[in-house]
Amino acid sequence: MEFNTAGLISLQDALDKMHGHIASKAPPEAESVPLTAAAGRITAAPVRSPVFVPPFDNSAMDGYAVRCADLHDGAVLPVAGKAFAGAPFNGEWPAGSCIRIMTGAPVPQGADAVIMQEQAEVSDAGVRFTADVQPGQNIRLIGDDIKQGDSVLAKGVRLGAAELPLLASLGIEQVEVFKPLKVAIFSTGDELQPVGTPLQEGQIYDTNRFAVRLMLEQMGCAVLDLGIIRDDPQALRHAFEQADDYADLVISSGGVSVGEADYTKKMLDELGEIGFWKLAIKPGKPFAFGKLKNAWFCGLPGNPVSAALTFYQMVQPFIAGLSGYSSWSLPPRFKAKAVTPFNKSPGRLDFQRGIFTTSATGELEVHSTGHQGSHVFSSFSQANCFVVLERERDRVAAGEWVDVEPFNALLRG
Ligand code: AMP
Ligand code: MG
Repeated sequence: MEFNTAGLISLQDALDKMHGHIASKAPPEAESVPLTAAAGRITAAPVRSPVFVPPFDNSAMDGYAVRCADLHDGAVLPVAGKAFAGAPFNGEWPAGSCIRIMTGAPVPQGADAVIMQEQAEVSDAGVRFTADVQPGQNIRLIGDDIKQGDSVLAKGVRLGAAELPLLASLGIEQVEVFKPLKVAIFSTGDELQPVGTPLQEGQIYDTNRFAVRLMLEQMGCAVLDLGIIRDDPQALRHAFEQADDYADLVISSGGVSVGEADYTKKMLDELGEIGFWKLAIKPGKPFAFGKLKNAWFCGLPGNPVSAALTFYQMVQPFIAGLSGYSSWSLPPRFKAKAVTPFNKSPGRLDFQRGIFTTSATGELEVHSTGHQGSHVFSSFSQANCFVVLERERDRVAAGEWVDVEPFNALLRG
């Protein structure tokens, strides 16, 4: 692995480096799971349809099935039977008659059009049709939507409400998916306490492990939570080793800066290799990426906004890649007009938290959530987007255009 700890690495270079490792790695193992347990899982192979959809020619309308040859000006066709969805017409169908048919019912053998009931006049003698008829009209042909053997989902697709009902409609009961990525997490810091424990002087609650665990679970990872690790090299080494034994990916928070109790980066260096350290983004500069004996390692900064942000922008795409999720992407960015100023100085790519809305005239606007300190976690709960400000950009005045990136489900759901 290439070492680059000298200057600040750009977000794009960092992402490219991380992704370069995925490309050279074998895909995760696959397993077969029932459809009912497949939500959020990633397809390990293309899914092909075992059937035709629709499975038979059927009516698109409530009306009458006819043979076009029987239709001439003023023709009145007696009704020879009825076809319902789930109850086909299988009787004798004499020439010169029609079949009453409902939406979804199999079209009787020999019928070449269905006429909607709004274009029919019914009398005791039979039915007279009042509009021109085209052969094939209102018949949904077998395989119109999907042919047997068609690929309906590619490999590397996440199964959700747009995909699983499709598989159900094909009668597919089991699906091949990648096994969940195993991720071990811990927070570092002598000041940290888990929720539920009263705080002593100088202590704070552990936000990061809560945030990271939640986002990992939403991504379908199998999480080993090693808790809070004291700022003690021995304890930290033990946590690293335990995490590395279990996981494909180890995520820590805190201790990656340059303080006297910051041991995380040193431990990574000792037990593995540092890929890069220090990003040219704000917040989130002290982020470390590397490789342990077995697992990848991401060291998130301690400040909660920085930790959540670097997880979202850096670790999330890496996990998607490691999990085999090939179509993953962040929501597309768009331009919006700044309603408030945004404080900024050149040097780092800024991910401020903002609220975008549509103005009365239909223009996209964005305003700041206010205080952007890396400890102000409330900025996430107020926001619906990142305001992405270019590395060299200076302070943004109201009225300027900025890039906005809507939150995805990890932060919105
Ligand atoms: P560090 O990177 O360990 O120097 O931490 C930077 C700042 O983030 C300090 O103010 C820490 O108290 C705070 N911090 C570190 N870890 C957490 C955590 N898990 N939850 C909340 N705040 C934290
Ligand atoms: Mg610390």
